[in-house]
Amino acid sequence: MNFIVDAMLGKLTRWLRMMGHDAKYSTQIGDAELLATAKNEDRVLLTRDLSLYQQAIARGLSAFYVEGTTEAERLAELARRFGIALIIDLEKSRCPHCNTKLQSVPKEEIEQKVEENTLKYYTAFWSCTNCGSIYWQGAHWKKIRATLEEAKEILEKKTNLS
Ligand SMILES: [Zn+2]
Repeated sequence: MNFIVDAMLGKLTRWLRMMGHDAKYSTQIGDAELLATAKNEDRVLLTRDLSLYQQAIARGLSAFYVEGTTEAERLAELARRFGIALIIDLEKSRCPHCNTKLQSVPKEEIEQKVEENTLKYYTAFWSCTNCGSIYWQGAHWKKIRATLEEAKEILEKKTNLS
């Protein structure tokens, strides 16, 4: 599923990309352009702006008004509304910075670009062919998993209530 995300939802955009979804985002994009992109590229508009959401709906576009305040709540909302799986598989991820599909790279290729300790402790790496960022399941991964777990719990509670 492809998304266009308003400027208030930068963090959520990075999550969506990590989960493998095509999410367009720019802090420079105005409302008119958001609506035009949603229409022309058949993208779902995600927004925190109620009036923008209403404009999108009035024009027959797919849009979703994001209400949650934490990342976990927002992820749970998206999972509930769009059936998005709350998992990150780097084989399918897109670059959180630029939305390009990541590619698995052999350690030798990135040797010069990451710290020695990182090379020592991790074996699997992915890189972005567009911006050159390199990714691995490092220490921060614990936090990522915790947020996904929290989102799953919120989702389960909501599902049980309805
Ligand atoms: Zn990139």
